[in-house]
Amino acid sequence: MKNAFLFLFVVATFPAFSQVSATETNIQYYTEKAEKYLDKQKALSSYYSIDKYGIKIFATANDKKINNPEFAIEWSRLGDFKSDLNNSPAEIFKIYKTRSYTFPIPDIAVKKQYMSILNKPEDKPLAGLSIAIDPGHIAHDLATGDLEKKHLKFKKDPLHGLSDSVELAEGMLTYATATLLKQKLEAKGAQIMLTRPEGFSAFGKTFPQWKKDDMKNAVDSLFKIGEISASQKKYFLSAQAKDNDIFRVLFRDLDLAKRAELINKFHPAFTIIIHFNVDETNLGWTHPTKKDLNMAFVGGAFMKGDLSSQEKRFEFLRLLISNQLENSVSLSSSVLDAFTKVLNVPVAGEHDATYIPESCLKTSKEGVYCRNLQLTRYIHSALVYGETLYQDNIKESQLLNKETDKTKNERIQQVAEAYYQGILNYMQVK
Ligand SMILES: [Zn+2]
Repeated sequence: MKNAFLFLFVVATFPAFSQVSATETNIQYYTEKAEKYLDKQKALSSYYSIDKYGIKIFATANDKKINNPEFAIEWSRLGDFKSDLNNSPAEIFKIYKTRSYTFPIPDIAVKKQYMSILNKPEDKPLAGLSIAIDPGHIAHDLATGDLEKKHLKFKKDPLHGLSDSVELAEGMLTYATATLLKQKLEAKGAQIMLTRPEGFSAFGKTFPQWKKDDMKNAVDSLFKIGEISASQKKYFLSAQAKDNDIFRVLFRDLDLAKRAELINKFHPAFTIIIHFNVDETNLGWTHPTKKDLNMAFVGGAFMKGDLSSQEKRFEFLRLLISNQLENSVSLSSSVLDAFTKVLNVPVAGEHDATYIPESCLKTSKEGVYCRNLQLTRYIHSALVYGETLYQDNIKESQLLNKETDKTKNERIQQVAEAYYQGILNYMQVK
């Protein structure tokens, strides 16, 4: 009898006890996550609260003062909300705009084939897995590389170790890497989407084509939503508008937004964003550098003005509550380890580039940094934004300069192999 009584006592009191401690654990976990990964300058506390109620997002500091949240989620509903956010962020954004989350979303069309295929053929261990690959930039030729300012040109200088001239456009390197990586992953059964065709933007057009067909509409709609001023609108629609300005102010961000849109429609299990780095102090890129490092970015590290729109605040909440950020760090760690091993290039420490202390937050993995880039913010999946080796490094530039067809370039083949091995390790398949 005594034991039965004790049993009842434990059962009766345990739920209340566990609720209190679960709330406290949640408060601690999400507060730490926000501070460590999301709020770069500790300047965003007026936009959110994490307390006994749950998590709230506020549009302004005054809204927080008067407790008028733009969106709020109680701890008791966090589990459902989190899995809906992991599975269908676009649906959740619609709900976010209506301010109320009332139930788990039924039957969300998310691609989960990978998990559902139980008996995968031995040679197709990635069957059912969808992966998006974004080859950074556009250029397939050096003139477009110039326009993008993603182009380096070294004169032959045998005295300083350059036995031949070097000319590279980053867009050519990223596209060749993406092509090779796609082949390797497809051979293992994965379903791959590239965000752009060779030499084209994510609109499926070159910059001159886009300018001719779509620029006027883009200028009109950017003016309408207040992204550009009346004088900017006048300038961009005039004959005086310079291609460099049109590219930098209008086209680049629209192309990136299109990439995120295509990726999110594809619902990938994760996304691989491919870039090659440069030494940022080597401005103009007319001479080689001695530096050579690898790094990778994931989402997070919002700066002071970075929660100015509802969409940005939603992405902040998504990164805070879903496990996409944690998965991105894990994927990026795996890919970075493969960069180091296959390419024999070390990872970048915190003080190896000025933008790391200025705009990044450290993660648990050296060389993987939170950074609030357009793609790390708007892509709704785990991701690695890879910045492999320094193209302007004296040795690397000469290796990358070989072969006109860059898919035949040995160094590019090694970069693709590094991404591939990193992905296999992350998926724990061989
Ligand atoms: Zn790049």
